[in-house]
Amino acid sequence: MTIRLVEADFLSVEELAELPVEELRRLFRLYREAARYGIDANDIDDCLDRADPQTPAEWVVAIRTARGICPKCHGSGSYSWGACINGKMSHSGECFRCEGKGHVDVSDCRRNRGYDGHAIRRAFAQMS
Ligand SMILES: [Zn+2]
Repeated sequence: MTIRLVEADFLSVEELAELPVEELRRLFRLYREAARYGIDANDIDDCLDRADPQTPAEWVVAIRTARGICPKCHGSGSYSWGACINGKMSHSGECFRCEGKGHVDVSDCRRNRGYDGHAIRRAFAQMS
């Protein structure tokens, strides 16, 4: 029995607790791998320390709710690009990495990873 992350996202800590420990370990690894794509390792550790999980199910919930400062907009929620004129960038808009929140959570990391993979495949396809 394996559960996909999109299904595990909606399971409560009580529902997770009914799963075998091996499955919870696998889910924790998948969430941690996703979180590392955009959340600083120290921020992940801080989130886990704050949650202070005791049971395997609580560990899964703790890693699922990890968040960190957005690496693209550095917490501002808006991204600027173009020429810098008198200290002001010529273009700016809502940061697409965090959707304007200023922080990224595990779900943002998964979306960004999917987007990046698609962008890389598209770039390679255009080269050939
Ligand atoms: Zn951002």
